[in-house]
Amino acid sequence: MALVYDMFIDGQWVHSVSEETMEVRCPADQSLVATVAKANSDDVDVAVQAARKAFDKDEWSSYLNAPIRADYLRKIATILHEEVDRLAELESLSSGKPIMETSMIDIHLAADCFSYYADLASHIGGRQVPLAQQVLDFTLREPIGVIGMIVPFNFPLLLASFKVAPALAAGNTIVLKPSEYTPLTVLELAHICNRIGIPDGVLNVITGFGKDAGEALVQHTEVDKVSFTGSTATGQRIMELCAKTLKKVTLELGGKGPNIVFADCNLDQAVSGVMTGAFMNQGEVCIAGTRVYVERPIWDQFVSQFLTRVKKLKVGHPLSWDTNMGSLISQQQLDKVEYFVSRGIAQGGHLLCGGKRPTDPELAAGFFYEPTVFIDVPADADICQEEIFGPVIVILPFSGEAEAVALANQSKYGLAGGVWTQDIKKGLRMARRLQLGTVWINNYSMLRVEAPFGGYKQSGMGRELGIEGLLDYTQVKNVYVEL
Ligand code: NAD
Repeated sequence: MALVYDMFIDGQWVHSVSEETMEVRCPADQSLVATVAKANSDDVDVAVQAARKAFDKDEWSSYLNAPIRADYLRKIATILHEEVDRLAELESLSSGKPIMETSMIDIHLAADCFSYYADLASHIGGRQVPLAQQVLDFTLREPIGVIGMIVPFNFPLLLASFKVAPALAAGNTIVLKPSEYTPLTVLELAHICNRIGIPDGVLNVITGFGKDAGEALVQHTEVDKVSFTGSTATGQRIMELCAKTLKKVTLELGGKGPNIVFADCNLDQAVSGVMTGAFMNQGEVCIAGTRVYVERPIWDQFVSQFLTRVKKLKVGHPLSWDTNMGSLISQQQLDKVEYFVSRGIAQGGHLLCGGKRPTDPELAAGFFYEPTVFIDVPADADICQEEIFGPVIVILPFSGEAEAVALANQSKYGLAGGVWTQDIKKGLRMARRLQLGTVWINNYSMLRVEAPFGGYKQSGMGRELGIEGLLDYTQVKNVYVEL
């Protein structure tokens, strides 16, 4: 039987003021997973006022209460670890992503994020400004206030945790809107917060669509900062809306990751890493390494080994343990993938594999797509430049470091990329020259909660994770004392 969720506002589970609801369906077979409340601007207003009240009480946000906040974060982490099976299943059902990924990575990493920021909560401090005669001058790091958070569908709980954990650690209060496709694990996070008795109004979760609930949240005058993860197009819209009241913004946006394979790499390691980077989460990953550049001397070897491995990938139901690639999120996303594949062919690309939906009748009701590899595409073709957000990659040849850098940097995006070489000095030279927020050397897609993550160029602004991610939820006050 389908689940039913209300919204979590001011410590209570409530319907939408309009009494409207929306459905969450499994993209793999269209079955109804849950019915959730559909928020409008009135609901957003109630949630923001609750967050404002909780912040203004000064109990939650006081720097003296950092150990108390840390305690809540630790409890959340413990429960997430304990409930990984249930949460992973819910996540896979609503997002279409393989259960192997949600149960091994997403939920545990979300828990780790809460533990990490619990440890940092009591260490937020300012600095002493250099002394002058009869002056004491120092800075304080204070919470910003009410944070409006909006997250996408591809890592629903994990990406929410990247925001919620540091924002709470720093003493802010939150109104969080998950994707309309995948609100369930974020609502479960609210359940956990309720169970551990987090003060009313500190975390509020509203469920609804971007155009109404999302825009109402971004424009609300009592929201002090917006932290958004999603597409670059929506990020541009959000920045435009935030400009009206000069809200602070953190934007984690799209990408078109370059993955550079030098001839002196460990080939097996590189083939595995490029596979993971390209097809993990059926390619619905902002950091996906979708532009693979291979140095000419190993072109034939790489392409042949890579194709052998790709053909073994199992596209299947997200709840099957042997599934490597699940379902795309929606018909719209499937249409987008099909559009770009036809553009790739029209622009001269040669398909090495994929380029179609799987023929297995058991998958006919879902938005599945085969892993797809193009070669012979001009570097400026649409499929080399636009984020497709599906299992479609291009492999192109290069000769030497300079050409690799030029090809990799030929993009409006700058989120993340990889370099495969056994010459570590060359790897480090490349890291310096690539216009990316993250560079992996002999790895692709490793995210550590301790390390900052975010984009160069049109991939965003601000950072999540690491100490940088915590400081992004603080503002600096200078205190000057005449002695
Ligand atoms: P999206 O931009 O369509 O939606 C993201 C969220 O924004 C959803 O909650 C949606 O309801 C909301 N939204 C949509 N329009 C809005 C508006 N006008 N005002 C306010 N909110 C609005 O993105 P998506 O399809 O859910 O996710 C895929 C995109 O997210 C890709 O571009 C991907 O690269 C990006 N992404 C980036 C990162 C990162 O860390 N850089 C991580 C994951 C995903």
